[in-house]
Amino acid sequence: MVIVKDKVGIVSCSGEDFPEGTISRIATRIVLEKLRPNDTVTICLPLFLAGSEDERAFARVFPTIAVDGCDKRCAEVGVKRYSGNPVATIVVSEILKKHPQLKVTSRDNLSDEEKEFANVVAEKMAKKVDEILGRKNEEG
Ligand code: SF4
Repeated sequence: MVIVKDKVGIVSCSGEDFPEGTISRIATRIVLEKLRPNDTVTICLPLFLAGSEDERAFARVFPTIAVDGCDKRCAEVGVKRYSGNPVATIVVSEILKKHPQLKVTSRDNLSDEEKEFANVVAEKMAKKVDEILGRKNEEG
């Protein structure tokens, strides 16, 4: 089994019913496109769950972070079931508990406050990517 050590796979839950699911997807895009574009890869969770062995080999090839909106942990469960344990799981609702002053209610157009929170989650993900790759935390 080949493990690609210079990239980290990120699988976000696809929750539409909970604002935290929206945050998980947006934070994932921030990491993939802005914070760690050269260090991260992803696949779509529904494709992964419905997909061929090629998709399911994803987390066997890449050390993978599951990003879930809530404690049902759908991304983590899917990765575990089909590819093996993710190296880390980030649960947005647990991070939100540490920021009780924030109101996160949107499922599509985020408020400035919600965008700020998505950035907080993305920064945590980027730090985890750095840890997995054995790097000191980088700026950004
Ligand atoms: S982890 Fe929670 S928010 Fe994400 S898809 Fe599952 S139930 Fe929905």
